[in-house]
Amino acid sequence: METVPPFKEIIDVIKANGGEAFKLCYQCGLCDVVCPWNRVRTFSMRKIIREATFGLTDIESEDIWRCTTCGICPQQCPRDVKQIESGVSLRRIATEYGVFPASVRPVRTISGSLVGKGNPLNEERKNRANWAEGLSVKTFTEGMEILYFPGCYLCYDPRLKKVARATANILNRAGIDFGILGSKENCCGESIRKTGDEEVFKRLARENIKTFIDNGVKKILVSSPHCYHTFKNEYPEFMVNFEVVHISQYLFELINEGKLELTKEYGKKVTYHDPCYLGRHNGIYDEPREVLKKIPGLELNEMPDSRKDSLCCGGGGGRIWMETPKGERFSDLRLEQAVGVGAEVLVTSCPYCITNFEESRLTLNVTEKIEVKDITEIIGEVI
Ligand code: SF4
Ligand code: SF4
Repeated sequence: METVPPFKEIIDVIKANGGEAFKLCYQCGLCDVVCPWNRVRTFSMRKIIREATFGLTDIESEDIWRCTTCGICPQQCPRDVKQIESGVSLRRIATEYGVFPASVRPVRTISGSLVGKGNPLNEERKNRANWAEGLSVKTFTEGMEILYFPGCYLCYDPRLKKVARATANILNRAGIDFGILGSKENCCGESIRKTGDEEVFKRLARENIKTFIDNGVKKILVSSPHCYHTFKNEYPEFMVNFEVVHISQYLFELINEGKLELTKEYGKKVTYHDPCYLGRHNGIYDEPREVLKKIPGLELNEMPDSRKDSLCCGGGGGRIWMETPKGERFSDLRLEQAVGVGAEVLVTSCPYCITNFEESRLTLNVTEKIEVKDITEIIGEVI
């Protein structure tokens, strides 16, 4: 019998790209049991890892692009294989060689837009603060209490601009001394990094860090769990440390300190979806729930797969920019779960989750049955 020797060169490239932990895998398959892909089609992280161990990765295959970096399998893995970092290392190789299957090709355009305009939506930099028109929102200057960093989708996307506006209104109502960077703000870079484009990530991160330092920023308030994650856990790789607060934590703080009063009734049944990068990746499960529980009249029901077992919306790991065919969208399953627990409102706190859920709401034809809201939109209605 002929034995196939490991392709040492490819193994070395994988290692050089951060895939060192592959070799720890003992093929138990626990990752595949919990992976959300296996609710909609077959997919095996275990197999990807096996092939990589032997240097046999097919970098042209769609499979290396599937992982949404949801974080559910790393918390199950008995050998700490670091599936996310290992998977990203394969994408780095594919990115280096410029090999993208059809469903992943939009990422190339996104990358160009991030470099040219600082956002993935190919919008003009000068329009970045347009969401704040007519509101009392100042430009950040040194000495202000907090920088509000809405992130790309809240700055440009018509649905998500409402979230940025709700946030600014809340901050004003609470008397917070805050400002924004407007056209000086860049994409945080979290998602492009997970597609394997380390160069663009570093460029965005360095520009943001320089802007933060030049403008005397110390504390940053974010709406997106993706900005939260990268500012808090990845930017320190550049030897900087900013205080980072997610809006769900900040709301909790403002209410507890008596700076925000929830005076109106919200007599609806609500369910809360934990975004992967807020919950599993950063352990923020309680604050958004505590905020919702304080709203008069609101009934909070939990879905199956909540907190650390939350079902991913499908938008992480750069998947928000890739094509996912109907029948394979996790957000459809999540919306069905929300409807299943009798919720009239599915509330969350992440721009990707909202984008995917709004789309599922349309495709599943449940627009009359359920609304999708960011937590700030609900707070905005009751203060
Ligand atoms: S759970 Fe960990 S050890 Fe088990 S197959 Fe997956 S990566 Fe390998
Ligand atoms: S991180 Fe999530 S999407 Fe990626 S392989 Fe693991 S369970 Fe699947």
